[in-house]
Amino acid sequence: MLTRPNKSEQEIPPPQFADDAHEQMHAMEDDDKDVHPSVLNFSSLNRLEHVDDTKETKNVKTSAPEAKIENAPDSIVNDDGSLTISAAFVLSMLSGVPLETILACKIGIKERGLTFPWYNANKGGGAITVGKTIFMTENFFDRTGYYHYMKKDKETGLKKVENTSYGNDPIQWLYLLAHEVRHLTQAEAFGTDAVGIAKYLLKFTELYVTRFGHNAAPLEKTADEGQAVFQAVFVSGDFLNDDAAFLESVFKNPKMNDTDRLKQLELLFENPDFIKKIDEARANFAIKESKALKEEAAILDEAKQERDQRKTKVFINKETKQ
Ligand SMILES: [Zn+2]
Repeated sequence: MLTRPNKSEQEIPPPQFADDAHEQMHAMEDDDKDVHPSVLNFSSLNRLEHVDDTKETKNVKTSAPEAKIENAPDSIVNDDGSLTISAAFVLSMLSGVPLETILACKIGIKERGLTFPWYNANKGGGAITVGKTIFMTENFFDRTGYYHYMKKDKETGLKKVENTSYGNDPIQWLYLLAHEVRHLTQAEAFGTDAVGIAKYLLKFTELYVTRFGHNAAPLEKTADEGQAVFQAVFVSGDFLNDDAAFLESVFKNPKMNDTDRLKQLELLFENPDFIKKIDEARANFAIKESKALKEEAAILDEAKQERDQRKTKVFINKETKQ
């Protein structure tokens, strides 16, 4: 979750509290034990833990608004689920993942209970990448303010509503995707056929459950590179900076099309000072996560070998049948 300087002035639709939603909201109230991502602590950004709120969901009587791909920000996601060229461009520049890999992916909606432990959509949600699809939690496809929680302000102790309906929030989209796109290259190494996807998921399970825990797993640590670069160029102190405001204005301007956006973004990403910041952030990340980067390289090398052997076997089988 990212903090903007004047949160109250943002054009966030007011939360709509149906009677039952109130109950839900209270059930979701913050308490001190909670370790969801803090908006003030950028090192913990996207450290979205798996919240077991099955108890809480039992209290929810109102049904969530239907999540639709059309409710993602139009400037980020096309109606067929592919990413816009301007969004893919920014993500590629931040993460270092090739543009064509990002353009080949699809965005999907992550239903509750599907495959992996799911993220609490009220508290910001998350995503899981499977093959060439990045499944995002429902709150990324909602523009009504349905997803929110009560957050205690650290200084004043007062509670306020934190909106997590990100259907109108290209910045939150770009920030989460800056992490997820790295998983696309990892998945590619395993192969995006059924066997490859199965092996990729098993590897993640092995790394999470038996060795590291979610955020310490090497494939997760290295995926943070795009977000580390994002933070270095778009966050100053605790807040999104002027370049982030420019980024947001480009992605929120309804009068611009994909081509117009790309032109504007090129101006920013071709600025020598900006390029220097990106390069520095990437170099710092390489030092900080050198161990995880080495582990990732070894895991992906092995996966690629297996993938290519599998391809060869299929080829030989086909050959011998002829
Ligand atoms: Zn991840």
